[in-house]
Amino acid sequence: MAEETIFTKIINGTIPSKLMYHDDLVSAFADISPKAPQHILIVTNKPIPSVNDVTREDEAALGRLFTVAAKIAHELGIAEDGYRLIVNVGRNGGQEVPHIHMHLIGGQKMGGFGFAGA
Ligand code: AMP
Repeated sequence: MAEETIFTKIINGTIPSKLMYHDDLVSAFADISPKAPQHILIVTNKPIPSVNDVTREDEAALGRLFTVAAKIAHELGIAEDGYRLIVNVGRNGGQEVPHIHMHLIGGQKMGGFGFAGA
C-alpha cells in the first residue's frame, strides 16, 4: 500500500491540525507556515497526487474545493476584499505535498505571481 500523505494523516487525525472544515469529499485546515494573514489549505479527502492525475470521477470533489473556499472566505471575513486561490502542480509549479490541495490566501493585498527568476 502506498504511504499515506501528510494530508491524509491530518484528515484522519493522526497528525494534529487546525481543522476548519470536513465533509465526505474535502477537508480544510490552517497552513502550518502561513504566507499571508489568512492561509488555509483545502484538500481532497482522496489522496489524488496532483492535477495531472484527476479523472472525471473526481469532479465532485474538485468542485467542492471551490464551494468550501468561498464558504471559508466568507467566514474569515475576507470574501469582499478578495483573496487568492492557488493549486501548485509538480516541480515547476512548486508543489511540495503530492496530494491535491488548494491554497486560500488572503487578509492582505497580493503581489505578483512570483515566477522564479522574475
Ligand atoms: P504545496 O507547495 O502547494 O505542495 O503546499 C504544501 C503546503 O503544505 C505548504 O504551504 C506547507 O506549509 C503546508 N504544510 C506542510 N505540512 C503541513 C502540516 N502538517 N499542516 C499544515 N500545513 C502543512
